[in-house]
Amino acid sequence: MHPPRPRTGTDAGLRATMPCPGGPGMMGGMPPDPDPDAHVAPDLPPLTIPVVFGRALRRRCPVCGGGGIFRRWLHLVERCPTCGFRFERIEGHWLGSLAVNSVASFGILLLVLVVAFAASYPDPSIPVLLGVTVGAAIFLPPFLFPYSKTTWTAADLIARPLTPDDLVDPRYWPPQRPPRRR
Ligand SMILES: [Zn+2]
Repeated sequence: MHPPRPRTGTDAGLRATMPCPGGPGMMGGMPPDPDPDAHVAPDLPPLTIPVVFGRALRRRCPVCGGGGIFRRWLHLVERCPTCGFRFERIEGHWLGSLAVNSVASFGILLLVLVVAFAASYPDPSIPVLLGVTVGAAIFLPPFLFPYSKTTWTAADLIARPLTPDDLVDPRYWPPQRPPRRR
């Protein structure tokens, strides 16, 4: 009698044990990558919320993390000098950044006022409180201006992921997140 033939399980397992017909350089049983140019920069992380907002809070391009996107403090360049991403993706894009700036400025202003009041309690000085409040109201909006632009662009990227219309240099396309199962 012949001994029973060992079972190899799946076809993939069988192929993995067979010599590769394509030569020593190929991996046996592995289908070729359908688009080898899809991920030219495999080290780039996917554009997740922590990634894009982390870059935005460092005043960097949310898409590629590149710097040099501001000329002086207030002027954002039209396109990222690293990846070519155009920050104003649609007309009216910056209205959202104004809202971010207003909410953040008022929030911090209120916090400053409460802290100043608590620090001087029970004998708060009205001129001091007024000076602190007016000073914060003057300096906070321009200080937060670049951050409000980058964070709003980051939020927009999360809501509307990159498309080919964004004309980002393909070398900086991040790997795609796997699609969610429904
Ligand atoms: Zn960029």
